[in-house]
Amino acid sequence: MSATATVPPSTVCDSMPAPLNPSTRVLMGPGPSDVHPRVLAALGLPLLGHLDPEFVALMDETMELTRQVFRTRNRLTLAVSGTGSAGMETVLVNLVEPGDRVLVCVNGVFGGRMVDVASRCGAEVHRIDRPFGEVFDPEEVREAVAKMRPKLVGIVHAETSTGAWQPVEEIARICHEYDALIALDTVTSLAGIPVEIDAWEIDAVYSGTQKCLSCPPGLAPVSFSPRAEEAIDRRRTKVQSWYLDLTMIRQYWGGDRVYHHTAPISMNYAYREALALVVEEGLEARWARHAAHHRVLRDGLEALGLRYVTDPAHTLPQLNCVYIPEGVDDLTVRRRLLNEWGIEIGGGLGPLKGKAWRIGLMGHSCRLANVTLLLSALETCLRDRGAVK
Ligand SMILES: *Cc1c(COP(=O)(O)O)cnc(C)c1O
Repeated sequence: MSATATVPPSTVCDSMPAPLNPSTRVLMGPGPSDVHPRVLAALGLPLLGHLDPEFVALMDETMELTRQVFRTRNRLTLAVSGTGSAGMETVLVNLVEPGDRVLVCVNGVFGGRMVDVASRCGAEVHRIDRPFGEVFDPEEVREAVAKMRPKLVGIVHAETSTGAWQPVEEIARICHEYDALIALDTVTSLAGIPVEIDAWEIDAVYSGTQKCLSCPPGLAPVSFSPRAEEAIDRRRTKVQSWYLDLTMIRQYWGGDRVYHHTAPISMNYAYREALALVVEEGLEARWARHAAHHRVLRDGLEALGLRYVTDPAHTLPQLNCVYIPEGVDDLTVRRRLLNEWGIEIGGGLGPLKGKAWRIGLMGHSCRLANVTLLLSALETCLRDRGAVK
């Protein structure tokens, strides 16, 4: 820690602040994604108190819509106050007690984050690894589960750091053969590709509002199977986190509505409206839209000579991770896209930093007009660098 814990007098704020006026962007990175006008408008609606009967009815409605989008009948299904990472932390702090064995499958940054969070819960964490961009084969997960006999297995469905699409149905079956719970990260998958919590028998799942749900960042939908809820009820110790303790939060969402913490009212409005848009479009139609626009984007990127990091069999439609061509500077191109076209794409994470771009096609950002805009802007940037003839 630095010894100087104060900051020098501000040179930025010594005049009256002007009204806030952020630029309009085309958000095609790894999240947040563009937000539908109806969701933005919901943020401006009058506040209700967090125990107002109208707000309580809205919570019931969002729980039911969340079940529809997760494809589950799990009772313990709600939106945690916080971003996707708070969802991850909620699942782990509630299901893991000190000394529990946890196995995490790591093939990117977010699997790595699960390891970090689980170890902060005092778990005995084991990990199996796959290189960035690859996915796990169910048999290698079986081998690890059979050997370590974990209480819980954590895995990421859509690894946003690489664009890898992990099949999980078979892995969930294997976990149950060995009496392990399976926790699934669906932050980037939910509402972009099929997520079937009950059909796949997933025990604990978390997501985030800011990716394919196209809501601002700020809430984390979570859901727990009856088996996972039992594991919470059987805890010998208190949940390590007061704020994320579901034994108390579920009383507010579903029980006798006792105050725990003040729900972020406006975010819940926005989330409700984002869920309504998903249900109005229909999950199947939404998945098909992501797949269709991805195909156009992929053809265009490949025509520009860009190569995907992931195998086509495991490439997420909503997250396109491509290598940056030889002789092209990452930051120069991303800065041009932002300054000249207002387009944001993402840079690489971890070992892909400076080596890859991450192009998101999530939710409301996933539109044909955006695909063509990005392709033509990128072509201009690459042509100017001599990377395209
Ligand atoms: C974005 C993301 C997270 C974290 O979500 P935040 O909203 O940034 O906290 C976790 N897991 C995956 C797979 C993600 O893409």
